[in-house]
Amino acid sequence: MNGSDSAGDASLPRDPAFLASLASSLLDHGDVTLVYIDRQGVCRHADRRFAAALDRTPADLIGQTVAGIDHPVVDALRGAIDAVGLSPVPTTAPLDCQTVGCDGRRSMLSGSVIAHHDGQGDTLGYLGAFHETGDPNRIAEFVTRRDSFIATLLDAAVDGIIVSDRTGIIRSINRACCTMFGYEESELLGRSMTVLMPPPFSRDHNRYVDSYMRTDRAKIIGIGRDTLGQRKDGTVFPIHLSVGEARLGDDVTFVGIIRDISERLAAEQRATYLARHDPLTGVLTRTAFLEECEALFAGHHPEDAPPAPGAPAVEAAPDKGEGAFALFSLDVDQFSDVNEAFGFHVGDAALKAMVSRVTEVLPPNTIICRIAADEFAALARVSDGAHARTLAEVLHDRLTASIYADRHWVRLRLSVGAALQDDRTGSLEDLNAKAKLALQAVQHNGGNAVCFYTPEMAAAATRRMMLTMHLTHAIERNELHLVYQPIVDRAGVVRSAEALLRWNHHALGPVSPAEFIPVAEESGLIVPITDWVLSTAIEQMARWQADGVLPERVFLNISGQQFLRGNLTRRLDELLTEHPSLRHHLGLEITEQAAVRDLKVAVRTLGELADLGIQAAIDDFGSGYSSLSYVQQLPVAKLKIDRAFVIDVPENPKSNALVRAAVGMAHGLGLTTVAEGVETVEQRDFLVSVGCDMMQGYLFGRPMMPEALADMVRGQTAAVL
Ligand code: C2E
Ligand code: MG
Ligand code: MG
Repeated sequence: MNGSDSAGDASLPRDPAFLASLASSLLDHGDVTLVYIDRQGVCRHADRRFAAALDRTPADLIGQTVAGIDHPVVDALRGAIDAVGLSPVPTTAPLDCQTVGCDGRRSMLSGSVIAHHDGQGDTLGYLGAFHETGDPNRIAEFVTRRDSFIATLLDAAVDGIIVSDRTGIIRSINRACCTMFGYEESELLGRSMTVLMPPPFSRDHNRYVDSYMRTDRAKIIGIGRDTLGQRKDGTVFPIHLSVGEARLGDDVTFVGIIRDISERLAAEQRATYLARHDPLTGVLTRTAFLEECEALFAGHHPEDAPPAPGAPAVEAAPDKGEGAFALFSLDVDQFSDVNEAFGFHVGDAALKAMVSRVTEVLPPNTIICRIAADEFAALARVSDGAHARTLAEVLHDRLTASIYADRHWVRLRLSVGAALQDDRTGSLEDLNAKAKLALQAVQHNGGNAVCFYTPEMAAAATRRMMLTMHLTHAIERNELHLVYQPIVDRAGVVRSAEALLRWNHHALGPVSPAEFIPVAEESGLIVPITDWVLSTAIEQMARWQADGVLPERVFLNISGQQFLRGNLTRRLDELLTEHPSLRHHLGLEITEQAAVRDLKVAVRTLGELADLGIQAAIDDFGSGYSSLSYVQQLPVAKLKIDRAFVIDVPENPKSNALVRAAVGMAHGLGLTTVAEGVETVEQRDFLVSVGCDMMQGYLFGRPMMPEALADMVRGQTAAVL
């Protein structure tokens, strides 16, 4: 130290040796290593670490010209000095260089070279300051050695983590991975990754490693994919694998992250299954059914079908009906009754039993689906029309036989609509529509039967659709009116009347109630129509009452749907508030089917009506499947014996017996009897002879306009007077 710089000088002494020793002493315990080369290229300072990186001592270097030292680090240093050059502005140049000591120990020097200027900006020399970043191999080793901290981190991971070298040898593996594959860690370390893969994948992996070794291109890096893993016990399971590559110097390490996706896939499969299958019965859903049938249907035409067993193999032209598809559309009649009577668990059990019976009866490979709660469809391959018919009948028999469901015996009524594929059936949709039409036809005819599609059904359905459309406007267009048919006592005196609805369409002409009432019920139009009937009849009765020609009772027909809706009594009460005295002149006719469909509601409603003074009659008695045992539970006053029985008396002894029995039993229950459809004097005489109380029919008067009935009543009164 020459002391040329006074202590008062603000700047530090610029002597390079001084600076170097200062830096050295300050940084001796730090990570930085220093070297100083003057502008002539002579090493003026080198600390122990720098010298060691060159496998020398500081004394070996200081005073030496760098040009005379043969070492990669010195080569790199010279390069950096050249880069800095003699520029007067302060400049630095980076330096990164690998070193290998004589013990083979590698290290990495990283840092920069800075130009050392005097006050005028002239370059005096170059200071190199570096970090020793250590041996890349040792870092890799550190990574794979799994010190306890990393091990803890890896083991805490939910996913399996596996580290392999570039040849696929496992270097490290976490606990999740060992558990997933059923190995101990020690069983896997040092082994090839392929032990964790089933054969086709392990072969692929080997091929992949070979290609990587040749080309250095890692195709799977960074791309996650679903593949298969194999456990120690040989079981194969789905995994998601993503591979990352860590390059440390020349060394490559692969890190694989593995997730067991069995549960995810199972959940996905379950979701797919649920989307395509009915959870209760396990059969297909409607959409899945249509898809599967469509696929099957597209690949099969009646002409392709093999000849029927026993048919000559050659020559015979294939019968178009052979080997066709038959579509069966099944619907349980009033299934809600089963649920209501026995509870949903019984209903569910009955549906399951139904499906297993369908499966039993129809040929194997039949596709079955549940379309709605109690509606099923099945597409089966049949040999011909006769085969289809037999199957449909057996199906109906089996499904309507008693089912033992959840400790109850249940008997279902079932409607079966069926359609057979022929060469005019273009598509599955066609076949489906035909089976549906056939089903509707069964239902229109009272249900609980089998019906095959015929072209007339399509025409009938079209007509029903058209009627529905026109019926919507019938009230506002004033196309409806009521006619009244007299009901007479045994002496032929008009006691009451039945109001019957007429629809006179402006273009179609008169449409029979037998045709449009079912259409109205199906479309829900029956609700406003019934309301119109009730108010119109009550208005008419009020007029008759004012004119003194009101019969003792005027009966209105109420459809089952309307009767069971629940607000009938309230509505009648409303309508009758203006004419309270008419309550005792009003009667309602309900069919026995409607009354027994929901006995509880029927009993309640009829009771409420009786409280209002309104009388109820059971219409069409004998036409349904109920019996007097049901009727006996209903608070009704009259029983109307169906025309079907009256028509045969007195010629048919069976009908005679039936009518006699019905009248006798009705009287036993305290009910008045009315015979419907009396057309002849003989019929009347017979009915009077068996004690029938009242009669209705063309013999006494056809349904007529209100004025005509008034005249009839007036005439009778005059006759009595
Ligand atoms: P229903 O209640 O059994 O009515 C008796 C049917 O028998 C009436 O047919 C009547 O015209 C017919 N009829 C009466 N006497 C004779 C006879 O001596 N010979 C023959 N061949 N027929 C006779 P209509 O008017 O065609 O009504 C048919 C059915 O339509 C009714 O049967 C009833 O169920 C229903 N209906 C009629 N009006 C209404 C209504 O306002 N509401 C509801 N919901 N249904 C109605
Ligand atoms: Mg009636
Ligand atoms: Mg009737």
